[in-house]
Amino acid sequence: MDGRGVCHDLYFSHPIAYAVGVGVPAKHCARARRLGRNRMEGAMKITRCGEVPSVRAPADAFTGVVWQNPIVTAHAPGRVGSALVTFLPGARTFWHHHPLGQTLYITQGTGWFQTEGEPRIEINAGDVIWIPPHEKHWHGATDSTTMSHVAMHERDGARHVTWLDPVSEADYLALG
Ligand code: MN
Repeated sequence: MDGRGVCHDLYFSHPIAYAVGVGVPAKHCARARRLGRNRMEGAMKITRCGEVPSVRAPADAFTGVVWQNPIVTAHAPGRVGSALVTFLPGARTFWHHHPLGQTLYITQGTGWFQTEGEPRIEINAGDVIWIPPHEKHWHGATDSTTMSHVAMHERDGARHVTWLDPVSEADYLALG
């Protein structure tokens, strides 16, 4: 509260004040505090490096050695999910599709990506790939290099992916 009767310390929790970046009149402080409790409780969280164990990707959806580091698992009504996924040489997903699509941001290395019916393509660190809903595809490392990507997708109900068959060695190694 300053000399003009303006509450600054809660401005960030008042939606209008937040929008314009100013303090709110003192008479609104109680409301801001109420809104603050409702809107901000548990909202801010830092997960420090090393707090969340890496997870070995399951053999019924991935071929080879794949490690996942969870980034986001949204609480309802949010539905975004994200993970950093690292594929060792030869490793890849099974064929699959996503009900609401998926974005991949390649963070390290060189890998391969294929949409069904199209040639396999090479993907490299810095590339961003958007995969439309229901489009059957796979992604992974090349046979001689690692590849890591951040995967981002939204749940449709309880599901963000539908897993299909493994990618055969013939399909995996077929030239693009
Ligand atoms: Mn995918």
